[in-house]
Amino acid sequence: MFPQEFERSVNAELGEAEAGRLLAALDGRPVTSIRYNPFKLSAMPTAEGGGLPCGNPVPWNRYGAYLAARPVFTLDPAMHAGLYYVQEASSQFVEHLLRESLTDRDGELPGNIRLLDLCAAPGGKTTLYSTLAGPEGLVVANEVVKQRASVLADNVRRWGVGNVAVTCNEPRDFAAYKHWFDVLAVDAPCSGEGMFRRLPESRSEWSPAGVEMCASRGRGILADAWDALKPGGILIYSTCTFNRRENEETVAWLAENYAVEPVAVDVPEEWGVVCGDAAGIRTFRFWPHLARGEGFFAAVMRKADGRVKRETPRARKEPLVEMNRPESKPLAEWVNTPEAMKFARVGDNCYGYYRPVYRDVVALAGGLNVIYSGVCMGRIFNGKLRPDHALALFHDLAPGCGTASKTEITRDETLDYLRKKEFADPSRLAEGLNLLTHGGVPVGWTKRVGHRSNTMLPNSFRIVNL
Ligand code: SAM
Repeated sequence: MFPQEFERSVNAELGEAEAGRLLAALDGRPVTSIRYNPFKLSAMPTAEGGGLPCGNPVPWNRYGAYLAARPVFTLDPAMHAGLYYVQEASSQFVEHLLRESLTDRDGELPGNIRLLDLCAAPGGKTTLYSTLAGPEGLVVANEVVKQRASVLADNVRRWGVGNVAVTCNEPRDFAAYKHWFDVLAVDAPCSGEGMFRRLPESRSEWSPAGVEMCASRGRGILADAWDALKPGGILIYSTCTFNRRENEETVAWLAENYAVEPVAVDVPEEWGVVCGDAAGIRTFRFWPHLARGEGFFAAVMRKADGRVKRETPRARKEPLVEMNRPESKPLAEWVNTPEAMKFARVGDNCYGYYRPVYRDVVALAGGLNVIYSGVCMGRIFNGKLRPDHALALFHDLAPGCGTASKTEITRDETLDYLRKKEFADPSRLAEGLNLLTHGGVPVGWTKRVGHRSNTMLPNSFRIVNL
């Protein structure tokens, strides 16, 4: 059963015959897809290699693949190790938009992108942008709801590229970082019509008043953060709803009230994406009866040229304390390229940053509520590092993994570790600190002290009830 008002609106938009096909598709089986992490895997995982049975690639994302069935992802160690992210196929389209808008003549994305992902939890698009930005780029992933921001930070740790700063702020807090960002991505909270198949319970939460509320909230978010985007920068606006009020009408409102220009995007017809236009701006719709994915809407535009005058608010606090070379010595042996990184203390924890983004993270931390950034290395006690879980999952962890011994464990042992069970037989482990690996892939740390093993897995990474 669909909400009556919703049926009425799709009938009006598509005509009865096509709306019937849409509603039938929405009552069908949802599509399952993943996006793998090229910083940890050189190619798509395969069933033969012990990975997931990946089927066809997602055409609009070079790292995406459809799965024939939906496995219990929670019981797959590879997901916990950040080898892939379970991401709905249609929303992976933002990669195509970014590539089409920003790639240079050689087909490469600029290496130093600064991207603000304003509505970021749980982190599907953040991890995608983190992949595309690479170690010289910076993704600021913001989530206004505190508990959701913690989940986002855990997913960023798991993905392990080390180029994301997670903030928990209101969109308006970014306006003070004037012209800072090359890309502003707003994946707006919406009425969720595109999720009616994947999350049937969302049908009963839908209401016309909810649509109006979401439409006005989306505009508020865009207006509040607009100044943070530099002239010439790209805005990617997206929702997972079909509703024109939240989609085309919001884009048209933007075009009427702000100086924006269209961006040309090439979309092959066989993808089944419906390309449109709202006040001269390109729009893209994923209808589940036409494209292989859930319902999704996106638009891309360029902020019209003007003088880029970057402004940074005066720092209210100095939460990052840069470590000098002797101080950071205990950290250097844990990462592949210590010379490419800077290290800083935040409270008792030490963090690592790729050099090109360090100053920017300091500036952001001076005025925003940054809850995670770079890679958390851990704490130094008596001149020795007690590594954080994030370091085990960091793509640039040194092969010698600092002072830890490497211990390969079975799938069952990995799942027990993720349930925070201690090893039944700690003599499997080396005395002292162990980096546990499964299939050669780091899973986490544990410490053996004589006949005991002490897991170092944070509670938030623990598998519960399975
Ligand atoms: N981009 C995410 C992803 O790909 O995983 C999904 C984002 S979800 C569609 C929208 C997010 O916006 C939610 O996490 C929600 O908490 C957040 N949100 C809700 N109200 C907001 C507001 N007023 N300003 C900014 N974000 C808000």
